[in-house]
Amino acid sequence: MHQFCCWKAGFKQDKCQYHKDHTNVDVRTGCKAFVQFHIDEDGKWIVTRHDTEHNHALHSPSKQHLLPSH
Ligand SMILES: [Zn+2]
Repeated sequence: MHQFCCWKAGFKQDKCQYHKDHTNVDVRTGCKAFVQFHIDEDGKWIVTRHDTEHNHALHSPSKQHLLPSH
């Protein structure tokens, strides 16, 4: 099983195992958006759970290059 959470998940004082601090500025909002996958015997990734409700505004495409994942 693999799970990816929003980069604004939790709060700075939390020790989220899926999210490490990328900056000294606290940009987290406690967002609970995530997607969870199961990988079957053939290596196929299957979405088993997800929550697409972010509790914050999303970045515009013109600012995506500023995100830590990019
Ligand atoms: Zn979010």
